[in-house]
Amino acid sequence: MLERNLVDSSPTERDLPIRPRRLRRSQSVRRLVRESRLSADMLVYPIFVATGRGVEHPIEAMPGQRRLSADLAEEAASSAFRAGVPAVLLFGSPRYKDDAATDASADDGAVQEAIRRIKRSTPEVVVFTDVCVCAYTDHGHCGIVSSGEIDNDASLDVMVGVALSHARAGADFVAPSDMMDGRVGAIREALDDNGFEQVGIMSYAAKYASAFYGPFREAADSTPQFGDRSTYQMDPPNVREALREIELDIDEGADIVMVKPALAYLDVIAAARAEFNAPIAAYNVSGEYSMVKAAAQRGWIDEQRAVDEALTAIVRAGADIVITYWAPEVAARLGGSPAR
Ligand SMILES: [Zn+2]
Repeated sequence: MLERNLVDSSPTERDLPIRPRRLRRSQSVRRLVRESRLSADMLVYPIFVATGRGVEHPIEAMPGQRRLSADLAEEAASSAFRAGVPAVLLFGSPRYKDDAATDASADDGAVQEAIRRIKRSTPEVVVFTDVCVCAYTDHGHCGIVSSGEIDNDASLDVMVGVALSHARAGADFVAPSDMMDGRVGAIREALDDNGFEQVGIMSYAAKYASAFYGPFREAADSTPQFGDRSTYQMDPPNVREALREIELDIDEGADIVMVKPALAYLDVIAAARAEFNAPIAAYNVSGEYSMVKAAAQRGWIDEQRAVDEALTAIVRAGADIVITYWAPEVAARLGGSPAR
């Protein structure tokens, strides 16, 4: 027997029980009343670009993901697009590393070649490019090191050089991920000064110094050789500081702002959503991917359900754009179509 007045403020004078379960009775009713919908339209697929030709290196810590040379990255981007994913995010790798990250801004670098190939074969794919130097510096930090410290302002010139090389190759959006102060403004100014007014900026605005990047380090070969990234990436307990970082990046000209990682920072996404009108991207990072993969491989979790639940949670928190290694398979499952 149901208790009467399960909910205090009964809307009826007849004192009938309120039955929220009516809206959960069938799959079709649940579909109708769903408050958040994961869509292929929101997905961005990250691709790690390797040097060489015909190169395909499996990334051990990220089952199913590979480092691909530009020719195969081109194929991966167009197949993701055919599956319904509108965008890719490219990460480069160097032919050589030095203290100035020289190869990061080379016009004939691997990522620059991948951009040109993708835009030539599938021009509709939105190409985002990660702008950072940690994979290109011999010390593995996201900036220029002087006297044992990451020199903010010296790093800006390098980031600008990387962003311009990506713009020249045809990138639609550059995505600075270094967390140096003032880099969005510096890149925006340089893009405009060089005729790239139409190239956008997606800033990694609130990027936390997170343990969840672990598997990515193997993928990008970018582990710092000394210290860690906590003098430039954000401290995990802080949310007001994230809003401050996002505000600054929007003021400096960011078109899209990102919170990274996603799942341990859903409150940051929600706070940013409440505060700002700019599109918000969330990065479902390598550790979030690998944990589910590892558990699924052991039969401890249903991968598909876990993925849908996690990605939907990111959308429910307020993200407009979800960057995820599952993008192609989720889009295929959701029936995304590039033709719409
Ligand atoms: Zn970096």
